[in-house]
Amino acid sequence: MHGNEVLGRELLLQLSEFLCEEFRNGNQRIVRLVEGTRIHIMPSMNPDGYEVAAAQGQDTFGYLVGRNNANGVDLNRNFPDLNTYIYYNEKNGGPNHHLPLPDNWKSQVEPETQAVIQWIRSFNFVLSANLHGGAVVANYPYDKSFEHRVRGFRRTANTPTPDDKLFQKLAKVYSYAHGWMHQGWNCGDYFPDGITNGASWYSLSKGMQDFNYLHTNCFEITLELSCDKFPRQEELQREWLGNREALIQFLEQVHQGIKGMVLDENYNNVANAVISVSGINHDVTSGDHGDYFRLLLPGTYTVTATAPGFDPETLIVTVGPGEPKLVNFQLKRSILQATPKRKAPNSGHRNKVLPKKVQPQAAGKKELKMKQSQRGPA
Ligand SMILES: [Zn+2]
Repeated sequence: MHGNEVLGRELLLQLSEFLCEEFRNGNQRIVRLVEGTRIHIMPSMNPDGYEVAAAQGQDTFGYLVGRNNANGVDLNRNFPDLNTYIYYNEKNGGPNHHLPLPDNWKSQVEPETQAVIQWIRSFNFVLSANLHGGAVVANYPYDKSFEHRVRGFRRTANTPTPDDKLFQKLAKVYSYAHGWMHQGWNCGDYFPDGITNGASWYSLSKGMQDFNYLHTNCFEITLELSCDKFPRQEELQREWLGNREALIQFLEQVHQGIKGMVLDENYNNVANAVISVSGINHDVTSGDHGDYFRLLLPGTYTVTATAPGFDPETLIVTVGPGEPKLVNFQLKRSILQATPKRKAPNSGHRNKVLPKKVQPQAAGKKELKMKQSQRGPA
């Protein structure tokens, strides 16, 4: 993301090669991971910045050289700010997920940011990490504190998401599988367990990880991977060995919680159904094919699927520590929107009345609802 923080880029190239080689060698763990997971790897979000940083080389007197894109913009301060809306909604009620983009968002962001937003909207991503350097810590959302600025100062305050425990676990999986991140003391900073809530370290606005959580189904953390933003080539082998297991374990984390299909009575997919877990004020939605994924820690949960035109369905689900639990929903059309029943031909009366004429006054309303429901997944 930051062109001068180059270790992530090298590690992702190594990771790609490692996955291919181990897959070919028949490494069962990697075969399973690759066959059961859609993995997307973007080694560089800011190639222009990287060129500038690489031309300068490893010397540290240009600590920020190459951080920004060619227009001089920091891409991790360039995503639409949805935190302001979620903090308002948390207090006053309102959507707790998939907050909409501003109408003119394309004109407000850089080309790299626009491309990434289009990319992350075009797949039903579940889990991601955003790689950086300059510290060694796994940072989880929110990055922006509730009161971002107080009297000109950036406010530092633990600002948890409704999925805080899960995010802490995701961050710990990385830090403990990493060679030394979990030890806490790195680069002159101390982070217990090698993890931190973003805003409790320092508050930043318009970052990518908060955007992912608030606009999509994706849960993203930010990994700071090296004290030296531009490590020497000789150090890369040690860095790769320090991060390899952590990268693989992080990918494996996508396979936890619950997942399944949302279907209607005729086994048609229901896209954009909302999956809510009671006690966690952050919903996810089913994808275009009716498939959904909800990362959860082990425990027993009350899970509800809702979609316009259908009755909600609620299930009690127990999630174990291993594989994700398969939980399918089959939604029934809402009775309120069923076709009005034709009146039974009654006791010897002469008129054959057309249903149209005998419809009660409320019929108009009913029809409207039916139309709405028909506009849904069908
Ligand atoms: Zn960075």
